[in-house]
Amino acid sequence: MSNSALAGLIVAGALVVLVIIIVAAKKSSAPISQRNCGNCKRVMMPQWQKCMFCGWAPVARLEFILGPMANQTLPLTEAVTTIGSVAGNTVVLADPAVSRKHAGIRKIESDYELADLGSTNGVYVNGQKVPKRTLEAGDIIRVGNTEAVFKRE
Ligand SMILES: [Zn+2]
Repeated sequence: MSNSALAGLIVAGALVVLVIIIVAAKKSSAPISQRNCGNCKRVMMPQWQKCMFCGWAPVARLEFILGPMANQTLPLTEAVTTIGSVAGNTVVLADPAVSRKHAGIRKIESDYELADLGSTNGVYVNGQKVPKRTLEAGDIIRVGNTEAVFKRE
């Protein structure tokens, strides 16, 4: 191999390294909210509801925006979370429009299923009355005069 060919190879190699560095820098400065698995710490894609490596899922929560619980957050850590007007419910709402046992949220693997437990005034998701609904991030749940946003991270 001649000297000029070797020099060319070195320049080409340096260019490749430079391009890799620029691409890597661009990637790390991009304003994407990168999530890491809470269990195995590997990077999770934004569209993943759970970690594809180990099955870990972030704890979902309700952020109350209207009613007596406004500005409070409830992590949905239990298998079943109930909402009603009497003691014994996970969330007790002192609201005349809320039934004694109004609604329940059941954790099924990585999904959360909201159900009307036979309430008088119904359960609404995004303004629609529903008997049962698998919740998606950003859904707005209405029970009586209370509204809460379902969040996943
Ligand atoms: Zn994981």
